[in-house]
Amino acid sequence: ENIRKSYYMGSHALEVLKGITLDIYRKEYVALMGPSGSGKSTLMNILGCLDTPTSGTYILNGSDVSKMADDDLAEVRNKEIGFVFQQFNLLPRLTAAENVALPLIYGGVSKKERMERALEALRKVGLADRSQHKPNEMSGGQIQRVAIARALVNNPSILLADEPTGNLDSKTSVEVMEIFGQIQAAGNTVVLVTHEEDIAAFAKRVVRLRDGLIETDTTREPKHAMA
Ligand code: ATP
Ligand code: MG
Repeated sequence: ENIRKSYYMGSHALEVLKGITLDIYRKEYVALMGPSGSGKSTLMNILGCLDTPTSGTYILNGSDVSKMADDDLAEVRNKEIGFVFQQFNLLPRLTAAENVALPLIYGGVSKKERMERALEALRKVGLADRSQHKPNEMSGGQIQRVAIARALVNNPSILLADEPTGNLDSKTSVEVMEIFGQIQAAGNTVVLVTHEEDIAAFAKRVVRLRDGLIETDTTREPKHAMA
């Protein structure tokens, strides 16, 4: 509700979000578009509890998280949010399963359970047979699917992805988008940022930002049939 975000550099303030009001419902599939610098990543970071707004209210699953202290915000983030980035951010020396299990280490989950849950998440993205592979032994699309599995390992209700196909060719992008479709069909809310109309066409709803404001917000039938 009326989300504003300014970045401060010394005495200079740059207002990047200028009053964003947006309702995203459970199990929605939303693509966030807009020119470079329009504030997409800034908004995603707020949605994902990586950052808080300068003013305005963000109600996430019923609680106001807009003014939460960092520790509390981190707790909400670990419970509710899975985040996928453009850069896959996998650790090269670890296997797929070890990479996926990483977020669970901070939750004090036993090693045995960590591996079980990592395998379950890898199964969801169709990579159960690649659990022992290291990143350099996998394709770009497989690596991004491992990153998606890692984002899912905590069973978050919301999956956020900032340009998840930005480093992938178009065929591999489709493969990754189909996985997001399956995850949404299984009951998650999915919000992703993309520059590409073809990729946005997978989502039922497209929100376009321009210069820190919502320019258009359209819902339509997705172009691609989803499993
Ligand atoms: P792109 O499509 O290029 O990823 P974007 O829509 O995601 O762009 P943001 O990353 O949200 O845009 O950035 C919006 C504006 O805020 C830009 O002008 C950027 O330079 C500025 N900005 C982003 N992060 C910071 C920061 N941490 N400190 C200062 N300015 C920032
Ligand atoms: Mg961005």
